[in-house]
Amino acid sequence: GLILVTGVTGYIASWTALKLLEQGYKVRGTARTLSKVEFLKNGPFAKYVSNFEVVEVADLEDNGAFNEAVKGVDGIAHIASPFHYKVTDPYVDLINPAVNGTVNLLKAAKEFAGPQLKRVVITSSFASLVEPHEPGHTFDETQWNQFSVDLAEKYKADPTNPANELPPNQAYRASKALAERALWKFVETEKPSFEVAAINPVFVFGPVIHSVKDAESINTSVHLLYKFIAGLNPSVEEGPAPKAFVDVRDVADAHIRALQVEEAKGQRFFSVAGPFTWAEVIDVLRKHNKLTKNDYPPTGEVVPPFYYNNTKSKEVLGLNYINLEDCVLATANSVERFL
Ligand code: NDP
Repeated sequence: GLILVTGVTGYIASWTALKLLEQGYKVRGTARTLSKVEFLKNGPFAKYVSNFEVVEVADLEDNGAFNEAVKGVDGIAHIASPFHYKVTDPYVDLINPAVNGTVNLLKAAKEFAGPQLKRVVITSSFASLVEPHEPGHTFDETQWNQFSVDLAEKYKADPTNPANELPPNQAYRASKALAERALWKFVETEKPSFEVAAINPVFVFGPVIHSVKDAESINTSVHLLYKFIAGLNPSVEEGPAPKAFVDVRDVADAHIRALQVEEAKGQRFFSVAGPFTWAEVIDVLRKHNKLTKNDYPPTGEVVPPFYYNNTKSKEVLGLNYINLEDCVLATANSVERFL
């Protein structure tokens, strides 16, 4: 079959495309930066170039942006969406591209893909389900983040009011919650002939295979870890915020299984290997001599008192999550060239 992977030049999408190619699928990627596509073709995708093609989609928000890209595909992994905290206008920079990109993709899929299109999997996020909670809370895919959506709506109603401040991380969370809501609403109102599923990963770490030009350009989640490798974080300050990880290779598998497994249709999947603390990450880095720039003193940090239920993703998608040590080590090996 032919699978469309949107934003194929990104961290998660490049892994998803590679694993699809390894499994014998043909992959069509969308990209806005064609030089990054060349990097993939000459590097990780080199063995599979005859099964890989690209459609340029310069702007997710353009009307009809995906109309060409979806033609004739059997499945879609819609992964492209902004994930960064460099926000000038939260709607322009994050929320609108996330929501409009998703809606554009779904509309194109319904109108232009063709009847062979079986399933569309959308990359949602922990951001779409996390809210402030009391200690002891267990996160799972039955939950929804209304909290960030409310903050975003307050901001929108009166952006200049300091009481309505929308911090970048809350704007990002709202972008993902609203984009995923748009998915389920589309299914309900438009009743497309294809089925859908959503993958909701926590912080994604693991090896970088896509084109990254310098340390500053490392994708947001891996950059958090990179800062410890590079000694850019002065100390391990553990807050009470929920902290859980998943390896990018497992996230790629989650997308592919969600395209393949019958029972995945109409479902969302919390994609999480388990909790972590930065102190544990540092222990792994120290054990493998990856703390090249400086070392960190032991801290009496508090482990965030939350739990993460990954039963559904294991049972339905058959995932068997990569552990923290393997994940952190593989991440470090792939980004140490930027030190
Ligand atoms: P990347 O930044 O590596 O990937 C983002 C992709 O989306 C890139 O291909 C990027 O293109 C494209 N993109 C971003 N903004 C736009 C835009 N405005 N117009 C067109 N294309 C755009 O990050 P990730 O791989 O981590 O993120 C991929 C998806 O996974 C996102 O939906 C994100 O929300 C989600 N996610 C990520 C998590 C993580 O911890 N990494 C956790 C949970 C969800 P280009 O390469 O040209 O920049």
